[in-house]
Amino acid sequence: MVILDRDNIDIKGKKVVILGLALSGVAAASLAVHNEAHVFVSDQNDSQDLIDSLDELKKLNINGELGNHSEQIYEADLWIISPGIPQDSELIVKAKTRNIPIVSEIEFASWYTEAPIIAITGSNGKTTTAHILEEMVQTDEIHGLLAGNVGIPFSRMVLNDLNNPNSKRVWVLEISSFQMEFIIHFKPFISIFLNITPDHLNRYTSMKEYIAAKMNMWSNQTKEDFIVYNANDNILVEEIAESTSRKIAFGQNYHPEAIFQPNRTKIYTHEHATLIQMDDITLPGKHNLSNVLAAATAAHIIGIPNNTICSVLSTFSGVPHRLEKVAEINDVTYINDSKATNLDAVQVALKSFSRPIILLLGGIDKGGDFRSLLPHTHKYLKTVIAFGQAKELILLAIGDAVRSTSAMDLNEALSLAQNYSQPGDIILLSPGCASFDQFDNFEHRGDHFRDLVNSMEINQ
Ligand code: ADP
Repeated sequence: MVILDRDNIDIKGKKVVILGLALSGVAAASLAVHNEAHVFVSDQNDSQDLIDSLDELKKLNINGELGNHSEQIYEADLWIISPGIPQDSELIVKAKTRNIPIVSEIEFASWYTEAPIIAITGSNGKTTTAHILEEMVQTDEIHGLLAGNVGIPFSRMVLNDLNNPNSKRVWVLEISSFQMEFIIHFKPFISIFLNITPDHLNRYTSMKEYIAAKMNMWSNQTKEDFIVYNANDNILVEEIAESTSRKIAFGQNYHPEAIFQPNRTKIYTHEHATLIQMDDITLPGKHNLSNVLAAATAAHIIGIPNNTICSVLSTFSGVPHRLEKVAEINDVTYINDSKATNLDAVQVALKSFSRPIILLLGGIDKGGDFRSLLPHTHKYLKTVIAFGQAKELILLAIGDAVRSTSAMDLNEALSLAQNYSQPGDIILLSPGCASFDQFDNFEHRGDHFRDLVNSMEINQ
């Protein structure tokens, strides 16, 4: 099948094979059927969730297989592959030798929408920036919608719009580097690059490959389009140098070409008007200032007025499980940072507050060295309460340097923290460990923490 001419792609009557039946695979299958393709889905796993998904798809006349990939997958005019499948896997190599065109789910969905796309990538901060931006791009003229790596498949949202067209649509897409493999036409109006740090190096043989995948995001952009980039990140600055897109900087230092500049007390515009006072920004932490500046810059480019940007920044309460403010009870603030499953994230969290912190740390240790927290602890860290499987290891590593104690589980840790707390303190769940000893995943752990705090509030 010929897919090089975007305007003339037609999958009607074609054999479309979808590899990987997670959320995005299911959504791509529905979008392909909507466009009258003959769809076959295949997943090498056969969990109950996948069995249920396949049963649902069968109602749309979609055939499929679970548990292994049979030869049938090579009888195809097009492959749409899940971001979980590495580029150099045997499967992909074989499909290429048979000249089967291969695209990612994001690429596929993008064929069926003409609405402007704001795509966000980076090693850290994608989800936070995407959520802030989605709140900003809501006006009478602009109807922003979030999708992509946030657990909302782009294909599902595009299909909804095909069924109920919305001429004011603007897409806000969170994009992982895996989703930028197998890109052909995908062309954001604005590409946001937050930062690049070594990440996922187990999948990419080198940092170069990892960066190259992310940089695919601007490969189809023209000089009508924008790149919004973190000017404090030297790797990024170098990587985008050859793009012809309009480049707009943001960053924590002064950059003459930035739309919004921060100083110690406020963010101001390039006309030297105040956008917002720092104290009025609800999201804590220097790292979040970068996320805020990136979102505000993109919102400005697409035409959102400064007062709307300001109002989002002064009310945005954070994304669940990422330094999320849960409650303030008796002048003690409770923060859920359950997404912090490694010690780097705990360091980021500790640097985000300038008040005494009681830190709930624990779960299943991931091999990190808890002593790496020590340089970040002297200022505001008042007490560590270690819980779960890693509790002894934590006490052994940092018990001498920081006032610490241990608890069986999160419930006990929280009630100890409450006993130790004084007005003005922060009780911070930033566990720095995996959650599987006591919870299904980090969301489950964070939800449990939130429920515990909320029930305390009710009992006050
Ligand atoms: P992602 O979607 O890229 O994983 P999130 O917005 O979910 O990022 O944030 C995850 C964690 O990454 C946060 O809890 C914080 O520890 C860290 N983080 C967020 N934004 C940044 C940033 N701009 N720079 C460095 N670290 C960040």
